Amino acid sequence: MCWKGVFVPGTHPGILFVRMKHPARRALFAKVRLLFDRGRRVVAWLFRRGQRAAGVIVSRVDSFGCPRCWPADADGAWKARDALTRESELVDESHFHVMILACKACEQRFLSVFTEMVDWADGEDPQAWTLLPITAAEAAELIAQRDIPSEAQLNLLGGDRKSLRRDHPKAAPARNFWITGMTVPPHD
Ligand SMILES: [Zn+2]
Repeated sequence: MCWKGVFVPGTHPGILFVRMKHPARRALFAKVRLLFDRGRRVVAWLFRRGQRAAGVIVSRVDSFGCPRCWPADADGAWKARDALTRESELVDESHFHVMILACKACEQRFLSVFTEMVDWADGEDPQAWTLLPITAAEAAELIAQRDIPSEAQLNLLGGDRKSLRRDHPKAAPARNFWITGMTVPPHD
């Protein structure tokens, strides 16, 4: 090995390595492996970051809501609706009630539509609730418009977005299930 232009015999890295004692060689190997692993992790992290930036990795399949307001199961989502706050009331009729609700945790807005059919035969009227997560822009547009939204307008919202339906038919237990988009059920 050359040290400041002076050749020092017997100091070539290869010779040093051969002369190393077994534990020292093992320690060196461990150190090299550690550096290699660390490097590999950094490369993997950079790769994932690049993919995320390019939109290859989408962190959530359904990008609406959070686990508190929009859990994976329909019954849980119906329970979570109780914790939503009322942001705006768009239609307030006894058999047709439309509101915009919001999650306190993630600020996700939901369009909530309640419909009821009057059953004159007896008191138990079939009721339905539909809950559709909407974007901030959609919520702002609904709130800003002067006229109350038409059913046709509401039905255009959501497209194939996942929404929640709770059906409480006459003389049968209520049921919560997933549907897509918004379809205002028939009502009085
Ligand atoms: Zn939320």
